[in-house]
Amino acid sequence: MALIVQKYGGSSVADAESIKRVAKRIVDARRAGHDVVVAVSAMGDTTDELLDLAHAVAPIPAPRELDMLLSSGERISMALLAMAIHSMGFEARSLTGSQAGMITTAHHGAARIVDVTPVRVREALDEGAIVIVAGFQGFNRDTRDITTLGRGGSDTTAVALAAALGADVCEIYSDVDGIFTADPRVVPNARKLSTVGAEEMLELAANGAKVLYIRAVEYARRHGVLIHARSTFSSGVGTFVLGPGMTVPEGVEGGEVEEPIVAGVATDLSQAKITVIGVPDVPGKAAEIFKIVARSGANVDMIVQNVSAAATGRTDISFTLPKADASAALRALAAEQQQVGFESLVHDDQIGKLSVVGAGMRAHSGVSATLFEALSTAGVNIEMISTSEIRISVVVRGDELADAARVVHTAYGLDGDTEAVVYAGSGR
Ligand code: ASP
Ligand code: MG
Repeated sequence: MALIVQKYGGSSVADAESIKRVAKRIVDARRAGHDVVVAVSAMGDTTDELLDLAHAVAPIPAPRELDMLLSSGERISMALLAMAIHSMGFEARSLTGSQAGMITTAHHGAARIVDVTPVRVREALDEGAIVIVAGFQGFNRDTRDITTLGRGGSDTTAVALAAALGADVCEIYSDVDGIFTADPRVVPNARKLSTVGAEEMLELAANGAKVLYIRAVEYARRHGVLIHARSTFSSGVGTFVLGPGMTVPEGVEGGEVEEPIVAGVATDLSQAKITVIGVPDVPGKAAEIFKIVARSGANVDMIVQNVSAAATGRTDISFTLPKADASAALRALAAEQQQVGFESLVHDDQIGKLSVVGAGMRAHSGVSATLFEALSTAGVNIEMISTSEIRISVVVRGDELADAARVVHTAYGLDGDTEAVVYAGSGR
């Protein structure tokens, strides 16, 4: 008998039928003799709808009230799920984040879990109940207010519960079969990975893969939680995310550890590029520019500075940032153009970012050459390049991103024999 934490995303509990399907899955795990704790997201697009409502009544909703509102989405799904389980003849108890002991910082909308005191979860388990916990929310001890963890926060709820309860595995259910070598909507013959390293998963998630949230993966790595990402719509084995020293549970079929040089190709169309043209090439200018950008609240990703033209002593600096941050950054830079002394700004929101991720890059050479060769054969121009120890990213034209991903996927030998199954479409 094991203790299993399961997390179901919004697309898995989108309507009454789906809730019943999920209830059945939970009951199956219980019938197999396991203790089951479930973290559940709000139904379908509930969180987005609540956000829209909030903005319809107030241009800038008060953060405390916004958390009161958004946390209600998960209360709906948790109670319905518990009811569905009852009607199948099993004991189930729903708990809000605060009842379940999810203690967080006071930061509304982006609270971090600082402690988990799952006393009531344990009591309910001891009484033989299946426990359903509202994802995405917690409680701050100082303000005594309800908080939310940021979009996609239910993954983190599940992992934190798994850590606090010493669960054997944290199963994260969504509408895809697991972690793929690329987004199957972009690369149809992407393959499901049976395992992926936690570090690799972090890089994939940070660079566009949407199946798991970064914070949850980080939390799992730090606390030694084994994540199994799998689909609500099939019973097959998904992908195990292995932190340092972790192994696939015994007896899992198809769970052999993979150690390819490249684990996957991530694509991201959510970024824009800003180029600051004609920056005086003297010490301190980059600092000035990025201080202004940081003050605008933008989260800068890649940066490239060209060599200055000898004739002018000026250079261009390009950087990428989330599309949503671009207009604030442009406004902030324009306001200090005189001060910094640059010539002009160019905004480009038609870029795509392609990243190749693999822990094997540390020990193998030629990984970047393969990437550049594949792109050149496909006639795709590279605009920016950045690397980490286990990742190479390039910026290309947005409308060439999908083609680029396919040729690169093939070049690294990642293509599977069949087309990947895509169930619903959100990846959550
Ligand atoms: N319901 C929240 C959201 O949509 C949390 C989650 O789904 O994990 O962001
Ligand atoms: Mg959701």
